[in-house]
Amino acid sequence: MKTAEIKRRFLAHFEANGHAVVPSAPLPAISDPNLLFINAGMVQFVPYFLGQQSPPYARATSVQKCIRTPDIDEVGKTSRHGTFFQMNGNFSFGDYFKDGAIPLAWDLATKSVEAGGFGLDPERIWATVYLDDDEAYDIWRATGVPTERIVRRGKADNFWSMGIPGPCGPCSELYYDRGPEYGREGGPEVDEDRYLEFWNLVFMQFERGPGVGKEDFPILGDLPAKNIDTGMGLERMASLLQGVDNLYEIDEVKPILDRAAELTGKRYGAHSGHAANQSHPDDVRLRVIADHVRTALMLIGDGVTPSNEGRGYVLRRIMRRAIRAVRLLGYQDRALPELLPVARDCMAPSYPELAEEFGRISQYAYAEEDAFLATLRAGTTILDTAIAETKSAGKPALSGDKAFQLHDTYGFPIDLTLEIAAEQGLQVDADGFRRLMADQRSRAKADAQARKTGHTDVSAYRSVLDGGGPVEFTGYTELNRESR
Ligand code: ATP
Ligand code: MG
Ligand code: MG
Ligand code: MG
Repeated sequence: MKTAEIKRRFLAHFEANGHAVVPSAPLPAISDPNLLFINAGMVQFVPYFLGQQSPPYARATSVQKCIRTPDIDEVGKTSRHGTFFQMNGNFSFGDYFKDGAIPLAWDLATKSVEAGGFGLDPERIWATVYLDDDEAYDIWRATGVPTERIVRRGKADNFWSMGIPGPCGPCSELYYDRGPEYGREGGPEVDEDRYLEFWNLVFMQFERGPGVGKEDFPILGDLPAKNIDTGMGLERMASLLQGVDNLYEIDEVKPILDRAAELTGKRYGAHSGHAANQSHPDDVRLRVIADHVRTALMLIGDGVTPSNEGRGYVLRRIMRRAIRAVRLLGYQDRALPELLPVARDCMAPSYPELAEEFGRISQYAYAEEDAFLATLRAGTTILDTAIAETKSAGKPALSGDKAFQLHDTYGFPIDLTLEIAAEQGLQVDADGFRRLMADQRSRAKADAQARKTGHTDVSAYRSVLDGGGPVEFTGYTELNRESR
């Protein structure tokens, strides 16, 4: 079943059950100062859940475009994480609760394909519930799920809150057993790759007080109106219904991957000797390229442009990561003019505006690739000279200064410096590099602080003097918290 058809059926099912069909909000989360991008279907409905506005409907359904940059390191390695994905959802604002949400999800998941459902084998579906949520447990039992396939899980997995005082509650996740070829038996707690999470049902029923993060807080009492928020991963459902191993192989993504393989002369899946859940680096790179190119298309489509801060910076990092992966696979020319039109053709059936605006979108994308390729060329010349000098001086490692200068002045990524140096039999003084990065970061922080308060906060300098710890790129995670 095509992804667009899964989306259509989802909306039709909930529309037939009295839900208003609401369009996706654009990816930039403009209404939430703490969030760069929408990362769940419920985000656009938050004012209703918080009781700040009264909803024009009691039930709604949507297919929300989402970005989860915290998942970026999983992309290509797990079978189920994209930086961009679509979350199908149904929502109840003080209307139906658990006894409505569970059967609605179960019906659609298990109803035959002929009858308009997804036709999943009910014997392979597992449900999780929060530790003491007997109500949900009993409803699953009544729906026909045997006790062996209902798992009680703790707060970390099965309790939802926003990290601030407000609504919270237990949740219940649906998993599909993909079979022994995907991993170990025993349910989602044993193997999250074999047992693929495809749907999360959140039961907002309590009010939480202030506390620490998402786990340590008091429950103040029941909410006056109980709400439902669910999220089904569209791409995950597509991977199940299309019988493919992972979400990079579904109809909306695989053509990009295939084109990247063609360009780089790699055969995807050629290294079949690799252990389950441990893909060959070439295959991981091809998946990363496919995922990131699609994400870039969707982001620029929604008005984000590459820049050095905020949303634009996330886009830039994602694009550069894709371009780097292409080069690491051995293709040195401009790749986006080959890949981006393929992504457009994959996505335009669901998002026709991408075809209409492709001129604008591709202009930004291609200019960004050209700029990055120019950076790489300039940096490579400087690096080659530095490597030659280091070698003739008989030193084993390129200085941290040089690596930092390449990064800071030429925008040349450190991972590339490490890689090229290694090819030449040289190490890089990574500690020195990290120290300089930490200095720079504290300076930037202190400057920002000074701008805010009108005077310079010297404590940041102090902490640098006291020792620079390891430096990682944290922009993805720190700029974009997950909301569930
Ligand atoms: P996981 O544990 O697999 O990372 P999650 O529990 O973080 O998923 P939820 O926050 O419950 O995911 O989101 C609801 C649904 O959205 C999930 O059940 C899944 O189907 C889908 N989903 C979540 N993250 C991603 C992603 N990075 N790519 C594709 N689909 C996703
Ligand atoms: Mg997750
Ligand atoms: Mg999960
Ligand atoms: Mg979940």
